[in-house]
Amino acid sequence: MSTTAALTLVACSGGGDDHASESTTPTAESTGGVDGTAVEQVADEHTTATDTHASDAGDAGHGSSSAGTVSKAAFDELRLQVAELRVEVDRLQVLAGLNTAGETPEEEHESDASHGDTPHWTYEEAERWGELAAEFSACSAGTEQSPIDLAGSIGLDLPNIDTNYRPADATIVDNGHTVQVNVPEAGTLELDGEEYQFVQFHFHAPSEHTIEGDHWPMEWHFVHRAVDGSLAVIGVLVEEGPAWPGFDNLIVSLPLEDGREEVVAGQVDVSSFLPELTAAYHYDGSLTTPPCSEEVSWSVLQGSITMSAEQMAAFSGRLEEPNNRPVQPTNGRVLEKDVSA
Ligand SMILES: [Zn+2]
Repeated sequence: MSTTAALTLVACSGGGDDHASESTTPTAESTGGVDGTAVEQVADEHTTATDTHASDAGDAGHGSSSAGTVSKAAFDELRLQVAELRVEVDRLQVLAGLNTAGETPEEEHESDASHGDTPHWTYEEAERWGELAAEFSACSAGTEQSPIDLAGSIGLDLPNIDTNYRPADATIVDNGHTVQVNVPEAGTLELDGEEYQFVQFHFHAPSEHTIEGDHWPMEWHFVHRAVDGSLAVIGVLVEEGPAWPGFDNLIVSLPLEDGREEVVAGQVDVSSFLPELTAAYHYDGSLTTPPCSEEVSWSVLQGSITMSAEQMAAFSGRLEEPNNRPVQPTNGRVLEKDVSA
């Protein structure tokens, strides 16, 4: 599985240029990667690649394929090379001010695979997302969906969130569902022994997660991706209050038109958007936008940040409708709350 995924990613990384040339006027569909929708397309690739691998392995039985003979060391080396290639592709795209960095290879694969465009969806019809397309079926059939209400968590002494962020170049895009800031070189998050590369952050207004039914005016999602395609998302709840300095730089860089991606002025330091208290609620959940894939390790921070009413309006004022998915049933999932901070 990991080998075939790695090989697929190599192939995709090599093909980024074609997409780049087409990406100056992305549609809402092509940039609909909220919460890493495009990452789901990687998961699709994995499925496809696995199928391919299965048939290759069949061939290998006749001694004609190397698919079954790659050593563990070679796997690991390949995975490493793939990770490096992806970072390099993302970096070049940011430098060139091109379309949503970190998502392009998957999108190209998507069209190569003739899956068609992601079906159009809105928040108004959130209860019916699972019926809009076969690829959205997890939205209704899934049993570990997000967001959820965070009350009733079990207090535990959990490891602290371990981030290794650095200031980096970024782009910003309004994809029709949210404003997303792509910072592919922002660094890494380590969680449960797994390393995740930072990809992008974006907002929901009002908050998606609730505590005893209460919403916050806004919630930011910081999306990270592991080499195997799984995601770790940090949720940060926002209270109205003093302006939070880091957002002003994003606001002045906001594109004039939806779908147009702009380079953010200066560098973006992801850590400057986090509260002091980073103890978190943890649970296993999903993307909160179609296709609602259940591949997300969630950490919603217990500390919150403040934004001024003007700052929040600069983002939420671009929305045609509130962009929070209603809370989903926990279905007996373990919900932990770090009490060690
Ligand atoms: Zn989100």
